[in-house]
Amino acid sequence: MRITVLVGGVGGAKFLLGVKQHLGWSPFGPPPANPDAGVQPTVSAVVNTADDIRLHNLQVCPDLDSCLYTLAGVSDLERGWGRRDETWTVSAELAGYGAEAPWFSLGDRDIATHLVRTRMLDAGYPLSLVTQALSARWQPGVDLLPMTDDRVETHVVVDDPEPTDDGPAGRVALHFQEWWIRHRAALPAREITPIGAAEATPGPGVLDAIRTADIVLLAPSNPVVSIGTILAVPGIADAVRTTTAPVVGVSPIIGGAPVRGHADACLAAIDVPCTAEGVGRHYGARTDGGLLDAWLIAPDDHADVPGVDVVRAPLLMSDPAATAGIVATALEVAGVRS
Ligand code: GDP
Ligand code: CA
Repeated sequence: MRITVLVGGVGGAKFLLGVKQHLGWSPFGPPPANPDAGVQPTVSAVVNTADDIRLHNLQVCPDLDSCLYTLAGVSDLERGWGRRDETWTVSAELAGYGAEAPWFSLGDRDIATHLVRTRMLDAGYPLSLVTQALSARWQPGVDLLPMTDDRVETHVVVDDPEPTDDGPAGRVALHFQEWWIRHRAALPAREITPIGAAEATPGPGVLDAIRTADIVLLAPSNPVVSIGTILAVPGIADAVRTTTAPVVGVSPIIGGAPVRGHADACLAAIDVPCTAEGVGRHYGARTDGGLLDAWLIAPDDHADVPGVDVVRAPLLMSDPAATAGIVATALEVAGVRS
């Protein structure tokens, strides 16, 4: 039994907790050492890396780290990102120097991760191997597969927030993180582009995880800057379209709004309505060149997605048990027994 999930950061990580719980594993930490019977199932997560950013010469991979920390049980669930029991001494000192990007807080514990990662990358290891090395400490219980080992960075084109008096108002491209965190996605996005994606190749194991899966799940992650950027790496969308496994997506939009974050601002940039139906149609039916066999939407939502089996289920990931219920529904809809 192999479950392959496409994920972003916080939403994706929460969803993976539910996958583990559904399998009868602890949501936090490694799978049980001695499975009761048969072969241990495998959970593979294809993780978005287009949010990655170089800060203070450190390579920061927010979505991979959200998965690592959350699945290990060391994340700060209240804040929603980063480590629990974090301290901020280095960030405060950097702010004292007026150092670049004060809007991106790096916790002290978190910085250790970035130091280890950056040192390994600088020594020539690809991100996929670095992620394995970090996983050896955190034991996430899930194979975390970066979508690519190549550099991909989402940039967001906005109207120049600081126009000069002379000349026509221009547009500027911001790193995704600057748009998302510094500007809280409040500047209307004219374009959202994963720079480098078109030239990137899928990370080791990514296509195989999709092709050999018993079920492929699209987590309720951001459809544009998490799932969308993964699918922008040539070969990945094709693998999803053509895998023999059923493909089930979970709507991140409930009642016309993202549960958390600014997915509405991202969807507006690509002219997709911020509704379960809008996102479902954006992914489309596999029978029609799209990605989905089935689409889970919240009980009070409505979605007509031609060619896709639309199923209503409670979709709030309030805790791993509730999320396990979503996963159970997805497997049931797909006719997959775990
Ligand atoms: P990020 O990379 O940290 O922004 O996280 P993801 O892209 O993986 O997930 C963010 C998305 O998760 C948001 O767009 C939300 O709509 C969605 N989300 C968050 N909580 C829930 C929830 O409880 N249920 C569902 N269905 N979606 C959620
Ligand atoms: Ca993200």
